[in-house]
Amino acid sequence: MIPAPFDYEVAESVDEAVSLLGEREDAKLLAGGHSLLPLLRLRAIRPSLLVDMGRIEELSYVRDAGKSIAIGALTRHHDVATAPLLQEHNPLVSHVAGLIGDPQVRHRGTMGGSLAHGDPASDLPAVLLALGGEIDITGTNGVRTVGASDFFTGVFQTAAGANEVVTEVRVPKLTGDHVWSYLKFHRRAQDWATVAVAAVAKRTNGGVSDAAIALVNMGATPLRAAAAEAAWNAGGDPGAVADEGTEPPSDTNGSADFRRHLARVIVNRAVADAFAR
Ligand code: FAD
Repeated sequence: MIPAPFDYEVAESVDEAVSLLGEREDAKLLAGGHSLLPLLRLRAIRPSLLVDMGRIEELSYVRDAGKSIAIGALTRHHDVATAPLLQEHNPLVSHVAGLIGDPQVRHRGTMGGSLAHGDPASDLPAVLLALGGEIDITGTNGVRTVGASDFFTGVFQTAAGANEVVTEVRVPKLTGDHVWSYLKFHRRAQDWATVAVAAVAKRTNGGVSDAAIALVNMGATPLRAAAAEAAWNAGGDPGAVADEGTEPPSDTNGSADFRRHLARVIVNRAVADAFAR
């Protein structure tokens, strides 16, 4: 279908994007367009103004920020997947960016767009959640920082307001003691996850500590699997309790029960895979 008519403005800076967003209540930011344009074409949303932030070059970077790696919101998935800094200090993030969609999606889709879209089936939100990442949001009052655990608030809903721009994401540097895995169950290679799991922990003598397990598509937002984390830390069976506290959807890719089963299976596979890397 053809989108409903809209006006189009190009923002040359973050300040200009914020200011243009403030001009109309229903204005929408356009980054890579790989989630927004399908919604426009379905006429699921009808913004009267699109603010194109795709040319704000200073938002495209991967930088060393001391204990963390900073990623500009406009950094494309392909650039996240291939950034040497991430491959060295947080290979979980680069690995997962390389699993998103297909090459075309990865060359257009952006880190900021993937988070701001708030799709519980997306890959990077769960990774940010497992890592305890931080998200910078810029608005008329300057920059505020929100932890990943507070950012995702519902299906297609986040802590970023209508007139705000996600500008930077920070993920901690992992050390040689960390083990990690990301396993994604999907029907075809380029599909979103039916269920996926991000798992990271610190290796200790004979086990792990600080286990973090986040689930994709097991509720309205990416979810931490707290019971599975406790079981992994205690040397127990994390898979057996992986679906505790989840509310998975039922759709054409699988029923809620099938998703619960998948979560139980792939959490244990991810834990085994984390040690095998
Ligand atoms: P856009 O589509 O431009 O924007 C999405 C939403 O976020 C809009 O509401 C927009 O206003 C808002 N927005 C964008 N940037 C910002 C910002 N900086 N600050 C505030 N709001 C902002 N994703 C996966 O995770 N896994 C997959 O396997 C996967 N497969 C895909 C397959 C296909 C065929 C397609 C088309 C997409 C797929 N995606 C997948 C989604 C892809 O990762 C998108 O690129 C991403 O979800 C949105 O990023 P974008 O830059 O394209 O954002």
